[in-house]
Amino acid sequence: MIFDVIVVGLGAMGSATACHLAQRGLHVLGLDRFTPPHAFGSSHGETRIIREAYFEHPVYVPMVQRAYELWHDLEKESGTSLLRETGGLMIGKPDSDLVKGARLSAQLHRLRHEMLTADELRQRFPALHPDSDMVAVWEPRAGVLFADACITAHLTQARRHGAELRYEEPVLRWELEALEGDGVRVLTAQGEFRARQLIVTAGAWISTFFPELPLRIERQVLFWFDAPDRALAPEHYPVHLWQFDGRRFFYGFPDLGNGVKVAFHHGGEITTVDGVRREVEPAEVEDIRSALRRFLPAADGELRATTVCMYANTPDEHFWISRHPVNPQVLIASACSGHGFKFASAIGEILADLCTGTQPRFDLTPFRRRPL
Ligand SMILES: Cc1cc2nc3c(=O)[nH]c(=O)nc-3n(C[C@H](O)[C@H](O)[C@H](O)COP(=O)(O)OP(=O)(O)OC[C@H]3O[C@@H](n4cnc5c(N)ncnc54)[C@H](O)[C@@H]3O)c2cc1C
Repeated sequence: MIFDVIVVGLGAMGSATACHLAQRGLHVLGLDRFTPPHAFGSSHGETRIIREAYFEHPVYVPMVQRAYELWHDLEKESGTSLLRETGGLMIGKPDSDLVKGARLSAQLHRLRHEMLTADELRQRFPALHPDSDMVAVWEPRAGVLFADACITAHLTQARRHGAELRYEEPVLRWELEALEGDGVRVLTAQGEFRARQLIVTAGAWISTFFPELPLRIERQVLFWFDAPDRALAPEHYPVHLWQFDGRRFFYGFPDLGNGVKVAFHHGGEITTVDGVRREVEPAEVEDIRSALRRFLPAADGELRATTVCMYANTPDEHFWISRHPVNPQVLIASACSGHGFKFASAIGEILADLCTGTQPRFDLTPFRRRPL
């Protein structure tokens, strides 16, 4: 049997891709080394932030707007709640990358937003304790994606539309194969499969298939703290990102029932998929507590849980979504660098467009792998 497309890796990107391809009637095989959603890659830890005033670059704004539409469509199709809009704050000095970048995206794309001084921020969100020289970009549409539920919903819809999904089946390698046109052969621990096109969405494991890609795997720790203060409930308290002390970033979520989740963004140790340390040291807890004591003292409660996750970083932290430069029947999507989840629904659609010869609605030039 020859599949139209094999998708390797069914995390955030692969589950969305399998869903979009199957919805278009393609004969899809999805393979994952674990049973997604799982806690070994880049997508676990319950929640992910979605935000529109994109500080990383304004080019992402139309893509995140499409992602919002598709997440809402998926909510309707699956009958599951996937996204909760809490509003969002980007907090830092006025000339910080975070505040400058979010403001630029908001202005260029005419997004609803407000600029708040440190005093205004303290008045509106008393749990937050910014330095007096900090300001914030407030955007009302930012919020929380329920990450496991998003992946499950995409996989369920993919299967409903006829995709074959095989879990606990690691792909060992792929090879070119001459079919009617050019195709691929995929070898797994259990067997061998053929397809016209191959999509590799293997997250932090992509380099095991394409060692020439200069991806850096970065260890990241997520923390949950007890926060009995009602000021940290989602009705009063939005998702928030901070840039402080130069280029340090940290972010937090409201208490959605399991305590307040906080983490640093970047600054983790560079590691490998096989060598990543899963245990969390007391010094790491102390480090995040020092940020909480300074900016969010109400969240400096008892430690409830921690988990370790991996960022797969491109050199400039922008995504790669492109065909293989030599073998056009192979597509690769590395959309992490610590900020990809929110786009997964849109990236699934883009990859399905590319596979079916449909013009994607976005110019993908910025997401081609760039010369270093
Ligand atoms: C701690 C943390 C916080 C983050 N916060 C945010 C946020 O708030 N907002 C946001 O938008 N983004 C955020 N991100 C980034 C986002 O989570 C990632 O961009 C996204 O999860 C990447 O999805 P992926 O599909 O590329 O990888 P994954 O979801 O890890 O999927 C890769 C899949 O490939 C499978 N696989 C690997 N090798 C093989 C093989 N040989 N055979 C078969 N299957 C294989 C794996 O089992 C896995 O299921 C965060 C990331 C981390 C780690």
